[in-house]
Amino acid sequence: MVASQPAKASKPSKLEGIKEDSNFLREPLASELLEDTTHFSQDAVQILKFHGSYQQDNRDNRQKGQEKDYQFMLRTRNPGGLIPPELYLTLDDLSHEYGNQTLRVTTRQGFQLHGILKKNLKETISRIVRNLGSTLGACGDLNRNVMAPPAPFKDRPEYQYAWQYADNIADLLRPQTEAYYEIWLDGEKFLSVEEAPEVQAARERNGNGTIFHEGEEPIYGKYYMPRKFKCCVTVPGDNSLDVYTHDVSLIVITDEQGELQGFNVLVGGGMGRTHNKEETFARMSDPLCYVDKGDVYDLIKAIVATQRDYGDRVQRRHARMKYLLHDWGVEKFRTQVEEYFGKPLPASKPLPPFEYKDFLGWHEQGDGKLFFGLSVENGRVKDEGEFRLKTALRKIIEQYQLPLRLTANHDVILYEINPEDQSAIEQMLTEHGLITDPNNLDQLLRYSMACPALPTCGLAITESERALPGVLDRIRALLNKLGMSDQEIVVRMTGCPNGCARPYMAELGFVGDTPSTYQLWLGGTPNQTELARPYMDRMPADDLESHIEPIFAFYKQKRQQAESFGEFCNRVGFEAIREYGETYDPNQVKGTATAGGKGRRHRISI
Ligand code: SF4
Repeated sequence: MVASQPAKASKPSKLEGIKEDSNFLREPLASELLEDTTHFSQDAVQILKFHGSYQQDNRDNRQKGQEKDYQFMLRTRNPGGLIPPELYLTLDDLSHEYGNQTLRVTTRQGFQLHGILKKNLKETISRIVRNLGSTLGACGDLNRNVMAPPAPFKDRPEYQYAWQYADNIADLLRPQTEAYYEIWLDGEKFLSVEEAPEVQAARERNGNGTIFHEGEEPIYGKYYMPRKFKCCVTVPGDNSLDVYTHDVSLIVITDEQGELQGFNVLVGGGMGRTHNKEETFARMSDPLCYVDKGDVYDLIKAIVATQRDYGDRVQRRHARMKYLLHDWGVEKFRTQVEEYFGKPLPASKPLPPFEYKDFLGWHEQGDGKLFFGLSVENGRVKDEGEFRLKTALRKIIEQYQLPLRLTANHDVILYEINPEDQSAIEQMLTEHGLITDPNNLDQLLRYSMACPALPTCGLAITESERALPGVLDRIRALLNKLGMSDQEIVVRMTGCPNGCARPYMAELGFVGDTPSTYQLWLGGTPNQTELARPYMDRMPADDLESHIEPIFAFYKQKRQQAESFGEFCNRVGFEAIREYGETYDPNQVKGTATAGGKGRRHRISI
């Protein structure tokens, strides 16, 4: 099929009309921004997302009969999680001047600012753009932030290729409309880096119906994508990105001399689902093919065109590319991609197994300099009591002008550190109450993730970021009670089934399903290569111990050597776990509980 949209016979969703009428992401946003109001209309809100912002309200402040406490979340688009020092300092300033005094590292290697008022949106976005940042395409129905491994290894060419191609794919799929610059920068086009000539050529190159010849968006057209679209580029063996959860994942393939040859390509991953809608589900991506480096942009265009033209534009909850893969199967999907690509796709190359890496602590960069990975609890950069992460980061970045790379586990990596500065930086971190040796962190906290949820996210059903610290404390107490104090378990929590913190890849996943209960998911693995499955619905948050303790006890009793908790749950099966739980007597366990694991911090409970 040549690029004409929408592809379905049934009536497209309302949002397709809003996109069509927006004149390439301008209206009604541009007009409403000039109005002296606290918030936008629903149509403008949809277009605002493409510009990198969600309209929210502080749900803690809702009062009957009063207008909502409207505020905006802004999300940065920074491929590979790269934040230059001037951008970090600008974001830090903006969080104080216009935001809620915190920054939030996202699970897609971006920063979020929360609490911006409508009247300050333009100033905030324009300052981000003038300081080497962007928010364009961080939300909305288009390609989101392209991820790449955060470790800044300078002597490993495969990492260099991953960053280079993450940048280039981000450029290839960047919206071409001038609306962003017109609305937020009064028409001044401000790109921090010139895009590579081969990227521009690839965008304009006609290819079997992948390109529109009219309008402002050669790749997207006026309807953009049916839903959000997520890409990453990683290197063999490095699964710091949850590689199976993206619409498209590229894995760098080099020859023995370290020269780039091409990429293995995975397609059709995605986390979001809806409670009680069996037709929605989390899905891991499938291997599609290998592609030579010279063809990679044409292949990306062919995959985008397939989803653009055949993705579901009628039911938004069925619109992610994973459903096209599910409904068609990989073979049919590949055949359609080949049609747009113009030639057959070669089979994938063999790869070593993936490992999960978080790159915390001190490491050699490979060029004489060092990098340092710092755990950020729930991704929230803030000062709280004796733990003054925000102040520490500001001081260090200001003094040493260090760039950051954000990780997919919502942590931060400072790099380009001169070895002679190591001890001073270490001292600054410790003086601000931060734990610098990752082995001294509580290992549950180290590998955990939570989405922001309440009070800012409009979709949240249940607490997440504010609840996870208390939940981790309780899980830690259970493990201590059972004599498993050194046990590592990947715990992730979200306040709704959209799955922003990827709970469906966790060993122990909590997904909010009513205001006081969570769905419990089991069976993800520490290297993030297995999909978890739902073990129970509506687990009351207050009864967590009675449901989870028997599972831990069974694991302790029956696990095989070096078997992770998630692998154990998959091997024995949920039936056996339930049976064990029915006869489990918690009073038989000799109490060995201690006050928390290593490196526990003061927590706010809710
Ligand atoms: Fe909001 Fe749900 Fe995403 Fe959490 S998972 S941030 S509640 S949309």
